Amino acid sequence: MDRGRVFSGMRPSGRLHLGNWMGALVNWVALQEEYECIFCAVDVHALTTSTPADTRDIQANIREMTLDWLAAGIDPQRSIVFVQSWVPEVMVLHTLLGMVTPLGWLLRVPTFKDRVRQMEETEESVSYGLVGYPVLMTADIILYKADTVPVGEDQMPHLELAREIVRRFNYLFGPTFAEPKGKLTETPLIVGLDGQQKMSKSLDNHVELAVSPEETRRRVLTAFTDPQRLRRTDPGRPEVCNVYALHQLFSQGKVEDIYQQCTGATRGCVECKGILAEGINNALAEFRERRREIAARSGYVEEVLAEGARRASVIARETIAEVREKMGLLGNPSLAALRDF
Ligand code: SF4
Repeated sequence: MDRGRVFSGMRPSGRLHLGNWMGALVNWVALQEEYECIFCAVDVHALTTSTPADTRDIQANIREMTLDWLAAGIDPQRSIVFVQSWVPEVMVLHTLLGMVTPLGWLLRVPTFKDRVRQMEETEESVSYGLVGYPVLMTADIILYKADTVPVGEDQMPHLELAREIVRRFNYLFGPTFAEPKGKLTETPLIVGLDGQQKMSKSLDNHVELAVSPEETRRRVLTAFTDPQRLRRTDPGRPEVCNVYALHQLFSQGKVEDIYQQCTGATRGCVECKGILAEGINNALAEFRERRREIAARSGYVEEVLAEGARRASVIARETIAEVREKMGLLGNPSLAALRDF
């Protein structure tokens, strides 16, 4: 029986953190057992909101992020691991899908309006790239004929739009693409060290996976706890403390004791955070060791990405040839040979 094909991407934001690990990477690694997987560093998507200062770091960020993927267990023998822009057919498909996507569909995506607000822009002043982001995302998925996309609840509107674009394309030009299905993934929401918002690099409330055990401890010690626990003798409320929430993920076997010691005021927060840091360091020890080994292999990451781009290109070229034919744009097929990696 044919395994389904998964496509999933991450913006190259550099070294990943605990939120990325629990929220996506663990799931990606597991998906490899069940699906043919394509994992992509979506560098063009990064341009939708970046400044020229950010783009200077893209290449270094791609390398750091790929190291994290590989160390976490993404297997480049089994899965295709590559950089979005290294297979430029995605930009061709983006343009062609743009011809069948009504602007109204894009303007009503809730995350578009949120983004415009966050960027303190207006719908008139944002770039076309930001408006067209869901079209590029659709191109990412269907260029590789992926039928499954791991998504969280918040990404469902984007996927629904991708399905609508596919339906419209198929209606206009004949059956070409499968409507991608969302695979809803139950991932724990990792709140940052500020105890307020989702863990995120831009909010500086994160713990990077690749830092040393000492740095991990230093970061964890800055975590906010129960604001009503002012003295060590005050009983704490684990249910409102983010450190306790993280204990549930990283301190297996100790959670019940931690609860009792917190509510009974028999353990202070500093000591409690020390136990959490130890749990995180234990959970990441193997990852960090593997990451060091992979980083020391000169040229290895670059080779993985180039090979991934080669494999992705084979699928992409076939899809573009089919789309051009369906859309009446049959060109000179020998032109394809002009590009190589
Ligand atoms: Fe949070 Fe631990 Fe302090 Fe309780 S003892 S408030 S769980 S850090």
